[in-house]
Amino acid sequence: MSLDAVRSPAAPVAFPKVHEAEGIPEAARAEIERILATGDLFRYTTENSPCMLLEQEFAQMMGVKYALAVSSCSAALFLSLKALDLPAGARVAIPGFTFAAVPSSIVHADCVPVLVECGADYRICLDDLEAKIDSCDAIIVSHMRGHTSDMDAIMAMAAARDIPVIEDAAHSLGTLWDGKKIGTLGRIGCFSFQSYKLLNAGEGGILITDDAEIVARAIIMSGAYEHNWRKHDVVEEACARWQNKLPLYNLRLNTLSAALVRAQLPELDRRVSDGRRNHDYVAERLNTSPYITVPDALPKELRAPDSIQFNLTGLSEDQIRAYAKATKEAGITVQVFGLSMDNARAFWNWEFLPESFELPRTRAMLMTACDARLPARLTLAECDMVADALLNALGDVTA
Ligand SMILES: *Cc1c(COP(=O)(O)O)cnc(C)c1O
Repeated sequence: MSLDAVRSPAAPVAFPKVHEAEGIPEAARAEIERILATGDLFRYTTENSPCMLLEQEFAQMMGVKYALAVSSCSAALFLSLKALDLPAGARVAIPGFTFAAVPSSIVHADCVPVLVECGADYRICLDDLEAKIDSCDAIIVSHMRGHTSDMDAIMAMAAARDIPVIEDAAHSLGTLWDGKKIGTLGRIGCFSFQSYKLLNAGEGGILITDDAEIVARAIIMSGAYEHNWRKHDVVEEACARWQNKLPLYNLRLNTLSAALVRAQLPELDRRVSDGRRNHDYVAERLNTSPYITVPDALPKELRAPDSIQFNLTGLSEDQIRAYAKATKEAGITVQVFGLSMDNARAFWNWEFLPESFELPRTRAMLMTACDARLPARLTLAECDMVADALLNALGDVTA
């Protein structure tokens, strides 16, 4: 068969595989081979481990003093609370719209999650935060799906009460707020290298801070036993002081994962700009439907999305269920957070919480908010196919 025949317009174009990750760059292979040959999978086996190099590179990229590579973003959040020395029973405000691992990390640290309402734009409701913050000892701002809450207002509220802000920036790598990098605004920023995030190591995470005391405590508790903190290139004095004073939770990253992330760092700017282009392109098409609203970015926010969220308006619950089913058949599975069974982002499923919360605004949002993957690697032609599928499925259920 000639190439022309293969490329003929009649040839069916495959629907993009939106649920697959992007391949790991070729550049990772030599380093992975080297690590396999030496067997140096543990970060403290050698000097200059890929984990330490990742920490240096990540801190430099973010413009902060310190980074600590760990086994997940959840581990980073847990260590943040421990590093801040929050006592057992301390109350930590989080948005009611986040992933179950976030309140879990608070429970893990013997603290109590305080759920705050989120609005139809997926962001923290400032009036509800204002109402609850006086009972809280810390805030974890989870920028869920990369939607940045109003950081000026939140930082001002926290500063007025002298309580620390931790940014859960798992889905916000590359997002800017007023020109500043998300994850650098709070006392500590936490990121994820799980496969559905912009840098994919399968599993992994990193925490960043400018505070020597916090990073020293977090390094020790992440599992830098004996004098292994010397293999971190940071704050010897503070680490030496905390040596043997803190428990070791062993939440380290392994060197293969660090090598995978390091190879993807040069890809990050492209992923961020292509992801934003794809998101804004599909958002504009979806917003032509009278049944769909895609919330805008906040004026100070420059997003780095790899998925799209939108609200369905004027549809019954049955129609919304039918819509989710129709999108699945079309190959772009939309999840409606509040309608899919056991959803880990629906707060009423977090039955492990020590205190339960009623959040009517968040609940209403979760019942109509749709979530679809939109990877940065898609071309605009593929984005059109995704937008067509999302709009056609809507046509079917509203006909
Ligand atoms: C993925 C994610 C997490 C959890 O990250 P892990 O690395 O899987 O622990 C936490 N918060 C948000 C907003 C996330 O997107």
